[in-house]
Amino acid sequence: METEEKIAHLQSLLLLMKREKDREELLEFPWVGNLGTWFWNVPADIVVCNDQKIKNLGYVDEEIPQQLGYSFFTEKLHPDDYEPVMESMRKHLSGKEQVYETEYRIKTKDGQWRWYYDRGKIVERDEQGKPIHLAGIVFDITRQKELEQRVEEQNKILKDLADKDPLTGLLNRRALFRIMEENASMSSFVLLIDLDFFKSINDRFGHLVGDQVLQQASSIISMNVRETDIVGRYGGEEFLVFLTDISDVKMTEIAERIRKAFEDKQMINDIKVTVSGGIVACSNRHIDIVIDEADRLLYKAKREGRNRIYGPYVQG
Ligand code: GH3
Ligand code: MG
Ligand code: MG
Repeated sequence: METEEKIAHLQSLLLLMKREKDREELLEFPWVGNLGTWFWNVPADIVVCNDQKIKNLGYVDEEIPQQLGYSFFTEKLHPDDYEPVMESMRKHLSGKEQVYETEYRIKTKDGQWRWYYDRGKIVERDEQGKPIHLAGIVFDITRQKELEQRVEEQNKILKDLADKDPLTGLLNRRALFRIMEENASMSSFVLLIDLDFFKSINDRFGHLVGDQVLQQASSIISMNVRETDIVGRYGGEEFLVFLTDISDVKMTEIAERIRKAFEDKQMINDIKVTVSGGIVACSNRHIDIVIDEADRLLYKAKREGRNRIYGPYVQG
């Protein structure tokens, strides 16, 4: 760009700033960002902004360049935010969006990230309608962002807690139902497992030992299923495994592995406990019906001697 042209741009920029300043003084309570206003002369690529926008990043007066360009800020953008910021600017400059409005992380001098919220618009165009000046405001929203993030983390913790059985850490009944309702398909199965004569463990060793046995039982089940299978505590001493994309042969194999693992395991206080169970294919039926059927198979297993899991090959 020719020097004269540059001077003309600078003059128009100064004029614009003065007008803005006057307007601010006219308004009793000007709405400016907490880091002030900025102006950008597009053809000359000259940015004039409140020093706060730069000092806030840890720079001192002497480090602020005499002349700033758009890239002074964009080169400090977080890599994930660079493209969205550019896109927002492109959309505004091309007239697709009424304002340029964006949030981004920007690097401080010592390598930290701060969140800025930036909002601006074209305030002057040339005769052909091409943008000459943009004006905008900028806020440091780091604190809000950190708070938002903390709230999000808390919500996640609360959600996890709401889904979990506190004793075993497994999913609770409520969460199990939600997952099963969302994921049941032709190739999924429900395995219901009930500890045999569990009440007598409580009676002989006390409730606390009973609790520990339940915890050990949850580990035995979790260790003998596939990583993708969902294990939950269905009720007191009843567990449920939800398995998807599995054949009935493989399903029977897993159930037998669990039954055998209980049979072989010496629990706390040398307690031995066996399990009875029922396996049912979901077959696109309502989950209540599937569980009802698994329950019937489970009780059949109880009646016929316990320590057995009835599945697709044994009908109730
Ligand atoms: P069955 O072989 O017929 O299933 O006999 P069972 O004794 O296992 O079944 P029953 O339904 O008679 O008793 C279940 C017991 O599980 C009764 C209840 O006190 C106990 N129980 C349920 N929840 C908990 C728990 O969280 N902790 C402990 N320690 N015991 C529990
Ligand atoms: Mg029971
Ligand atoms: Mg029982």
